[in-house]
Parts: sequence; C-alpha cells; structure tokens
Amino acid sequence: MTSSSFFPPQRTLMGPGPSDVPARVLAALSRPTIGHLDPLFVSLMDDIKSLLQYAFQSDNALTLPVSAPGSAGMEACFVNLLSPGDTVIVCSNGVFGGRMIENVKRCGANAVVVEDEWGKPVSVDKVAAAFERHPEANLLAFVHAETSTGVYSDVAALCALAKQHNALSIVDTVTSLGGMELRVDAWGADALYSGTQKCLSCVPGISPVTFSPAAVERIKQRKHPVQSWFLDMQLVMGYWGGESKRAYHHTAPVNALYALHESLLMLKEEGLEAAWARHQLNHQALVAGLEAMGLEMAVDAAHRLPQLNSVRIPEGVDDAAVRSALLNEFDLEIGAGLGALAGKTWRIGLMGHSSSARHVLICLAALESVLHDQGAKIRTGLAQAAAKAIYAKG
Ligand SMILES: *Cc1c(COP(=O)(O)O)cnc(C)c1O
Repeated sequence: MTSSSFFPPQRTLMGPGPSDVPARVLAALSRPTIGHLDPLFVSLMDDIKSLLQYAFQSDNALTLPVSAPGSAGMEACFVNLLSPGDTVIVCSNGVFGGRMIENVKRCGANAVVVEDEWGKPVSVDKVAAAFERHPEANLLAFVHAETSTGVYSDVAALCALAKQHNALSIVDTVTSLGGMELRVDAWGADALYSGTQKCLSCVPGISPVTFSPAAVERIKQRKHPVQSWFLDMQLVMGYWGGESKRAYHHTAPVNALYALHESLLMLKEEGLEAAWARHQLNHQALVAGLEAMGLEMAVDAAHRLPQLNSVRIPEGVDDAAVRSALLNEFDLEIGAGLGALAGKTWRIGLMGHSSSARHVLICLAALESVLHDQGAKIRTGLAQAAAKAIYAKG
C-alpha cells in the first residue's frame, strides 16, 4: 500500500460531537508552533485560564485544560478527589454515569449507585435518600447533560444536597459547557470537567477542568498518592499554576491550545448568555420541524437538552440506512442511539458552531428527503415552514 496525504470531506457535523469547527479556530490551529515554556506561550496560558473561568462562571484558581479528551478530565476529577475506601454516591441515567461508576471502582472507593431510567433526569429525592442511608459518603458525582439520552439534571439542587451532607461534587459538563446555563460558583459545584469538541466547537482532545477551593483543599490533604502520575493535579499545578515559575510537567498541545483559545474568545465575543439563548432557539426550531414531519422527541420537554436532540426512530425505518444516506447524499452526520437506546433513537446535535438556523434547515430538509425515500410515513413539505415560524418569532 502506498500512503498519501489525507483530505477529509467537508461534512456537516450534527451528531453528539465533534461539532463543526469554525474556520477561525482551524486557522488558529495552523499558526507557528512555539515552545511550551516560551514566555509568549505562558501568557497565552494565562488568557486561556481566564477565558475558561468565564465559560465556567467561576473564580476557581485551579482551572485549566487537561491535555487529553473529556474522558481524561473525568478521570482527573475522580483520581484526585477519591482515596481508597471512600464512599461515593454516583448517579447513573445513561452511558456517562456508567463510566463514572467504573472510575469510582478503579479508585478503590465504594460506589453507592442511584439509578434513574435512561431518558429521565437524576432524581434529587433518590440522591437525598442515598445520603440518608450513607452519611459516610464524601462525594456526589453526576452528569449535567447526558449526551447518550439528551437529558439534563438539576446541578444547583444536587450540589446543594452534597454541601448539606459535607460532601464534594463532581459534575460532568462535557456537553453542557457553552451550550446551556452553567454557573459553577453560584451553584456551588466543586469539580467539573468538560470537552472542547462539543459546544465549544474546538478540535477534540482537550478537557477543561475546574476545582473549587474546597476541592483543592481535599487534594492537598490527601495521604494516598494519586494513582495517575499524569493526571495528578498537584504536579499539573506546577505547570499551570499561577504565581510561581512554571515547571515542566508534560509538553502542552501547543497548537490545539491556540485553537481552544480562539474558540473561547469567540464564546466571549458572543457572550455566554447569548450563546445559551442561541442553542435554545435553534433547538426549538428543530423540534418544531421534526414534529411537523410527524416525528416524536424521546425526552420530555421539561428535561430536554437544547444541544442534543433525541428523536424516536419511526416504526419500520432502517436506522443505519437512514444515517448512511444522510452521510453519503448530504455529507451530514447525525448520531445513533447509544446503549439501551441503540436502534430506538437518533441523536441530533446542535452544538456550538453547529447550532445555527442553517444547520437546522439543512438537517430537516435532508432527513425529510431520506425518510421519504425510505417510504417512512412522514408528512412532507411542512418542516421548513414550522422551523422558520420559530425564527420569525425570535
Ligand atoms: C463526549 C462525552 C464525554 C467523553 O468525552 P471524550 O472527549 O469523548 O473523552 C464524557 N461525558 C459526556 C457527557 C460526553 O458527552
């Protein structure tokens, strides 16, 4: 086999991530590489940190991008806050809650699992009952925006409950950061991780994290060394940490951080609340169009994520055939159902740069065409007008 350069097609990304990366971010990625301890790079790191604090709505000093994907941010939170023998209340209502349980076990801690049905939010009452049964629990972990189902849970209420029981909280905000209301300090959350490829519309492979002063205190008080050398925040702090000299820990992904900086700058320019409102509006337009076609949403309106729309696959429709037709005919990617929802739902992402009227209208047109070709019983000719009516109202 002879190898040659790889030229990917220009897809439209409307799955569960990555989302479309704006040209401005890709351009930043291709700027000259400089040393990761270059004074100019160090000042860029400071700016990234303050832009991340803005995105998280937090003054947390320990806020930085972990040089690895969202899953590494998840692991960073667990390995730094947990010691063997700790008891953790972990909420599971989809794929990512399940991964949290796995992290807890691998830290040698005891997982008290609070289960909720896939497609439903985490039950605050069940978590309260779990704290009553396990007063020794010193951590609560849950997912803000469950990308596997399209549901969000109540961060403020769950973090308040953790505080009431002297426990810290770990919150997965991989899909929520930049796409829906998230106020880390006001809501009293302790350790949060996110990803760059969802509502930040940056390239994949970096995980912003933030730790509250209480979480930092627990890290400093640890007796048992963090099981991961790479993710040990005491060591990473030496490189990213504020005042003192930066010490070499690992080589930061310099160009990927140019890209992250640019995408965070775009978020700041738009304004966080304006970005949240944009995600909401495009979500409403998409839902109006899908329902006009006769499709049904899989999640109750009260708990739907604006950036990840779970749609029921109509009876008799070939899931994989529809998705490959969308990809082959329209260069459009949507997501398949995961786990318990495989074959039952599609997941249409409206994340970051992929949350626009253009994306909504293209997706509705393409889906209508493909479903019509497949002989699905849908109503044609109504979806565009239904979506546009939402935009007309604003
Ligand atoms: C995507 C995602 C992750 C994992 O992020 P990776 O960058 O794929 O490692 C974790 N949690 C949630 C909720 C996600 O949507």
